[in-house]
Amino acid sequence: MRLEPCYFCSSKVYPGHGITFVRNDCKVFKFCRSKCHRAFKKKRNPRKCRWTKAYRKAAGKELAVDKVFEFEKRRDEPVKYSRELWQNTVRAIERIQEIKERRQRQFIMNRLQVGSNNRTEDDLKEITQFMHLIKAPHAVNPELDEVHELAKQRLEELKANKEKLVSTNKSKKTNKKREKVEVIMEETSEQNAAELEEN
Ligand SMILES: [Zn+2]
Repeated sequence: MRLEPCYFCSSKVYPGHGITFVRNDCKVFKFCRSKCHRAFKKKRNPRKCRWTKAYRKAAGKELAVDKVFEFEKRRDEPVKYSRELWQNTVRAIERIQEIKERRQRQFIMNRLQVGSNNRTEDDLKEITQFMHLIKAPHAVNPELDEVHELAKQRLEELKANKEKLVSTNKSKKTNKKREKVEVIMEETSEQNAAELEEN
């Protein structure tokens, strides 16, 4: 049983559901519901409709470029049936799903982190710039002075961190993650290759 993705919104199309359209050049289009079918008939571009996966991935709102997606690609090589290969594949599916979900969660958390960092930065800026509105310039209030100093320090730290992140994000972090996934991929591919050779 294969769960085909909807041509328009990329959600799963379960057997017996949705509409299949075969164009006169034999290309098959699956649609999960009439909403997607209608949008297709109106010649809408899925990349321009905000509710589709295609749009969300194109706009950087969801994990789009990742090694995990390599497994989902359709392969047209015929494979001889072997019970062991089948068992390993089923085990691998679970593991890959687990990895994929974890990475997607991490991607969302990273996106949210940027927002919360920006918010704290704005708050700190407000304190440092508009201290004269909170406290009269000549008033004596050591507590507020302390807060002012702290805010200044935190703001500088945040800015330094941001610069660091921008410079290292592209090189270090992604490389580490990639290595991990590559190791797992190698393991599974080696297994599969060994089994294929046995056959
Ligand atoms: Zn759909």
